[in-house]
Amino acid sequence: MTEAVSVKKLSHFINGQLVEGKSGNYANVYNPSTGEVIAEVPLATAEETREAIEAAKVAFPAWRDISVAKRAEVIMRFRNLLTENMDELLNIICTESGKTLEDARGEITRGLESVDLAIGAPHLVKGEYSVNVGGQINAYSAKYPLGVVAAISPFNFPIMVPLAQTSMAVAVGNAVILKASEKVPMTSLYVSELWKKAGLPDGIWTVVNGSKEAVNELLENKAVQAISFVGSTPVAKYIYETGAKHGKRVTALGGGKNNMVVMPDADLEQVANAFMGAAYGAASQRCMAISTIMPVGEETAEKLVAILKDKINKLKVGSYKEEGTDFGPVISKESKESIVKAIELAEQQGATIVNDGRTLNIVKESDGYFLGPTLLDHITRDMDIFQQEVFGPARNVVRVDTLTEAIDLINAQELANGVTIFTNDGAAARKFTTEIDVGMVGVNVPIPIPVGYHNFAGFKGSRFGEGHMFGPDQARFFTKTKTVSERWPEVTEKTESTFAFPSNN
Ligand code: NAD
Repeated sequence: MTEAVSVKKLSHFINGQLVEGKSGNYANVYNPSTGEVIAEVPLATAEETREAIEAAKVAFPAWRDISVAKRAEVIMRFRNLLTENMDELLNIICTESGKTLEDARGEITRGLESVDLAIGAPHLVKGEYSVNVGGQINAYSAKYPLGVVAAISPFNFPIMVPLAQTSMAVAVGNAVILKASEKVPMTSLYVSELWKKAGLPDGIWTVVNGSKEAVNELLENKAVQAISFVGSTPVAKYIYETGAKHGKRVTALGGGKNNMVVMPDADLEQVANAFMGAAYGAASQRCMAISTIMPVGEETAEKLVAILKDKINKLKVGSYKEEGTDFGPVISKESKESIVKAIELAEQQGATIVNDGRTLNIVKESDGYFLGPTLLDHITRDMDIFQQEVFGPARNVVRVDTLTEAIDLINAQELANGVTIFTNDGAAARKFTTEIDVGMVGVNVPIPIPVGYHNFAGFKGSRFGEGHMFGPDQARFFTKTKTVSERWPEVTEKTESTFAFPSNN
């Protein structure tokens, strides 16, 4: 008889404490590398979410009124705790997401850039001041925090995206509620402990675990002023529409279908190396993963596909615990099944299979959700896989004759997160960066993600609402500008009423 393994029951983090779920509803958290259930996460009811919002509302005014320098000190201590506890963070991220150690380390490092930017928040919220705009009247515009704000995050970056969504929000004086992904909740709960150790007052950082019911309360509750969402496109659209209907400021980032255009003059060996990491890293579970390589000209295509075929055959898929693993499993059994279905449909619709990840060897057999790397050639615009985001290692080749054809095809796609071109021709790069209708554009870089102090977001179906993740725009998104006109006249001065529109002359 096998012994029953006790599975850890997780909590929420409300008002500075770990709080047990009251709903009695739990979802399983899996280790994708083994298929084992490693924890159960509580799914908050609307009532529990409301209680968390109330606690945040009570905590907010004191945090708003603290000096910006004191707030920056807390963020600085939080930053130091993140680096001091890197090993524990890596362990949690790799266990619940299946990422390789190297990939998880990269994610944490990029997340730290958001925290670094937030330390400098006092500079970003400086206002504007004018003297003598009228008789003895001065005017100033200043940025104030919004109050209670919410972030809803996806599974594929357990720490980087929540840090990018929330660090600036905390730094400029808001009380933040994070609805972490129920697939990777342990990282955010651990981050909560670090915020507490850094000295953040209770109620300013909250983690409500859950799914649709908790999210709907955040979208509808009057006390929540702004929503930052990152996840798939259909949910992003729903969040934007529902949040806006309830009068909230919303930015909702969605999925991607990112293309790499390869001009005939590019160094194909260099291109192939760039494509391998950008396309298959993290089992292709990145919103900025390259989905499609678009060689210009038949000769470029023939040479490139041959190089890629060979390189893809050498990739190693396995658990983060195994040496030399290039990428790990996908997040769940359902996800693996949907990727396999997408490959089958593409095959039925006429795609050629260059590398078949459904049969490629995994480093070590287990019940993990592993899938090898697939490359599908001769993808055309009428096939489902041309438009659809496949969140796993099935990548496409779309052959084109000219740069103009590549630009037209990319601009016809609904998702417009990232795109990149490889060329040595400055004029081609300039035409591409000017005419392409995509939010994040690269020239001779594998994934066009800039450093954390630049604004980041896609266009069209990849983003609903105005606002960015990362970058200085976060300081704008999480504050409201108040403009004050003030006059302090001499006490002896006589005043009279005037009924014309104030002209300050
Ligand atoms: P998802 O949309 O399934 O879930 C994201 C969040 O929304 C989770 O917290 C989840 O609990 C919640 N959610 C899911 N369904 C909901 C519903 N019906 N109502 C309310 N809330 C709901 O996304 P995911 O699978 O966790 O993450 C992968 C997706 O995120 C991919 O599409 C990827 O491209 C995208 N993503 C985009 C970016 C970006 O910057 N644009 C960054 C990372 C990930």
